[in-house]
Amino acid sequence: MAKAKTAISPTRAEDYPEWYQQVIKAADMAENSPVRGCMVIKPWGYTLWENIQHVLDQMFKDTGHVNAYFPLFIPKSYLEKEAAHVEGFAKECAVVTHSRLVDDGNGGLKPDSPLEEPLIVRPTSETIIGEMYAKWVQSYRDLPILINQWANVVRWEMRTRLFLRTAEFLWQEGHTVHATAEEAMEETRKMLAVYADFAENYMAMPVICGEKTPGERFPGADHTFSIEAMMQDRKALQAGTSHFLGQNFSKASGIKFQSEAGNEEFAWTTSWGVSTRLIGGLIMTHADDDGLVLPPRLAPSHVVILPVMHKPETAAAVLEYCESLKKELQAQCFAGRRVEVEIDKRDMRGGEKRWSWVKKGVPLIVEAGPRDIENNAVFVARRDTGEKVGLPRAEFVATVAERLQGIQDDMLARAQAHRAENTQTIDTLEDFKAYFTPQNAERPEIHGGFAIAHWGGDAEDEDRLAKEMKVTIRNIPLEGQFGYDGEPGTCIYTGKPSTQRVIFAKSY
Ligand code: AMP
Repeated sequence: MAKAKTAISPTRAEDYPEWYQQVIKAADMAENSPVRGCMVIKPWGYTLWENIQHVLDQMFKDTGHVNAYFPLFIPKSYLEKEAAHVEGFAKECAVVTHSRLVDDGNGGLKPDSPLEEPLIVRPTSETIIGEMYAKWVQSYRDLPILINQWANVVRWEMRTRLFLRTAEFLWQEGHTVHATAEEAMEETRKMLAVYADFAENYMAMPVICGEKTPGERFPGADHTFSIEAMMQDRKALQAGTSHFLGQNFSKASGIKFQSEAGNEEFAWTTSWGVSTRLIGGLIMTHADDDGLVLPPRLAPSHVVILPVMHKPETAAAVLEYCESLKKELQAQCFAGRRVEVEIDKRDMRGGEKRWSWVKKGVPLIVEAGPRDIENNAVFVARRDTGEKVGLPRAEFVATVAERLQGIQDDMLARAQAHRAENTQTIDTLEDFKAYFTPQNAERPEIHGGFAIAHWGGDAEDEDRLAKEMKVTIRNIPLEGQFGYDGEPGTCIYTGKPSTQRVIFAKSY
């Protein structure tokens, strides 16, 4: 049988990493910039980021947070205050050492005027924010501080990939201060739950909430929690993190307060963040061999209307029909937003035009031509399933929100089924090795998926496992999460006792 033609080449099965790049290109979301590791986010990708921001921002505000902004530059000495933190980030820092450029005598420019103290381009803002919090906090009455910042950060990453790992990325970072450890831990977990809610209910991307092992903690944190998602190649993506920082940063920055009892105490802090990596996760969860597939709740447009205007004599009537349909659809509400509709009037071949929207992932593609006007009908295609139906126009308008929610629900269900099909509970090292060993040497990317197994090793054992098999512990699932059983057992790798099963996978 001839191979079905796909809009994206190569397909996922042929070359997954290259397919990913091609989906982004075909949807016109982003491209590599002249600066290594940095990306240009184009309007279709940026609108998606704005929608992500909009929803998350409201969730943060609903949980009591406010936004503020802190500087891009951090004095080197601030970073040095927390030993684990500086060790973790030193190798990834962009450093500003000079304040101007002068003629180099060869027709070029050279840096001049060295700064007294080098400035770090923020890789994360705990230290600069901590410096300010130390000034703002005096008494228990000043607590808690619940601040979020939307910003860009720079981490000089070696191996970069659009959205998933870039040298400069956009993110939000929450930084909170509390009077007690209990309150700070409650905040850490609350924000992890906010991320999980967003991932599942907006991105239609199921995630596992859990704690990272000590070796995978954020530099300077006492506990790091993550949400982990399975991509279509069965690898894991760490999609968000929430850190309990204990008193480490409050001691480093001097965030002290007078308690109700009159004692001077160090405060307890947290930080939490998600980045433009979420867009990479969304693509890798839902896109198919014809391009992007957008979950309706985040889609920049919900419906695109393609006027069929072959004949000049009917073109005006068709356009009018489409414009009034757009108005009626936009009067409908879906998931707290108006239904967003575009009419594509570009003068190009119908097939080419249609495919351009398929590749962009718009949930519903509507075609309307002279015959539809006669019948007062529309022809609607669902992007996620490819299903096409002719419908009376009024029925389509009345059910558009319901249809969009149906797509959203089906996308989540498909992603959940994919994860369930590619997850296995494993009890022996032999089975574990077989699970993660590619069956076909030519297709090393094809391997098991998530393994739920017992672990009792330490950081060194974890490193060894990663080197041997490229498999890491994604997280230790929290009670009630996918993969949690809470039963003790024996570590598959070291034979030591284990308190519960953890999630293993290859990862991004
Ligand atoms: P962290 O501050 O290391 O906990 O990271 C916070 C969030 O940013 C996590 O959700 C990561 O998934 C994401 N992130 C970390 N490094 C990068 C990167 N180089 N590019 C894009 N996102 C990143």
